[in-house]
Amino acid sequence: MIAPRVEIDLGKITQNARCLVRRLGARGISVTGVTKAVCGHPDVAQAMLGGGVAGLADARVRNVTRMRAAGIACPISMIRAPMVHETRDVIRCCDASYNTETGTILKLGSVARKEGTEHHVVLNVEMGDLRDGIMPEDLNDVALLVVATPGVALKGIAANFACMGDVAPTAWDMAKLSRLADQVEGACGSNVALVSGGGSANLAWALGDGATGRINSLRLGEAILLGIDPVSGLPINGLHTDAFALFAEVIEARPKPSSMPMRPSAPKYGKLELVSNGDQRHRAVLAIGQQDTDVSGLRFPSGFGCIGATSDHTIVDTGRADLSVGSEMKIGMSYSALMRAMSAPDVEKVVRHGLPVNGTVTDTGPQSLLRLV
Ligand SMILES: *Cc1c(COP(=O)(O)O)cnc(C)c1O
Repeated sequence: MIAPRVEIDLGKITQNARCLVRRLGARGISVTGVTKAVCGHPDVAQAMLGGGVAGLADARVRNVTRMRAAGIACPISMIRAPMVHETRDVIRCCDASYNTETGTILKLGSVARKEGTEHHVVLNVEMGDLRDGIMPEDLNDVALLVVATPGVALKGIAANFACMGDVAPTAWDMAKLSRLADQVEGACGSNVALVSGGGSANLAWALGDGATGRINSLRLGEAILLGIDPVSGLPINGLHTDAFALFAEVIEARPKPSSMPMRPSAPKYGKLELVSNGDQRHRAVLAIGQQDTDVSGLRFPSGFGCIGATSDHTIVDTGRADLSVGSEMKIGMSYSALMRAMSAPDVEKVVRHGLPVNGTVTDTGPQSLLRLV
């Protein structure tokens, strides 16, 4: 089979989505499936929808267009603020967009009017991640502007956590977001229907014991796709962590010393020659590199370790194992490795339909952070 490739088990993605939808539903929180890490791959989007997510969200218009072209008709939100030059495309293919800038909101309104439609605006609030977000003290004014602008309607407010910083949201943050929703309603007399508390980093809070207040939605990418809590990096109990696997082909396999003799170039070192200490290790060179994935986010089979990577090669210490040229290595991926592999043109994407072979989810044991079942 062609390599490098990502193999995608759609059944596991559906099961992950279903599990999260069920657990969060019991807490009054709906799930929006975030497709940006898979570049809006339509089969993955459909697998999320099959698990019952209320809608989809992506950060790039191109990905949304790809899903629309594949016939996906559910509500889709742009979770990155639209660029001014793409407002028309956003109006045409997205039901809503997340915004922080009044200039962009006015442009969305005027383009929506020209297109004969109304576009939903969600206002992103800055709550400590220091990426994009309206400062809480400015939120009322921006909300009033949205309400007063024909062509756009205020749909809700949203917060981001653990994207730029490693700041995980607390119950205090969530209570503050709830209060902001009340405050905006008081100021502009318009219903704030959506209060989106954040992404997968918020699951520990959302599935905890505390009151959820007005938070009624989460936008989940990593938890659905990889079953991982982004804050701790730990697997989430009850979810599949192996819906995706990367396969790369071995193009060289041989023992090499762990360090090379120093080759002096300057004449004054001419009499010095360091020789190999005889510490020979088996290595494999894989035909995949930084251009295809985030090599630092790869998980190699146990006993193997990554020595390094260049744009097109990855070097793996295979210990005592002498692999054969032409064989494949199955590799696990972090979210950033997945994101890069899914967007790399030279990495094939192969989807597998149907339920996982044994139909059960892996119990990750006592180290897991979140207990879902
Ligand atoms: C990527 C992203 C998400 C999803 O984050 P996960 O950690 O993958 O759940 C949610 N909201 C916004 C604005 C994002 O950019």
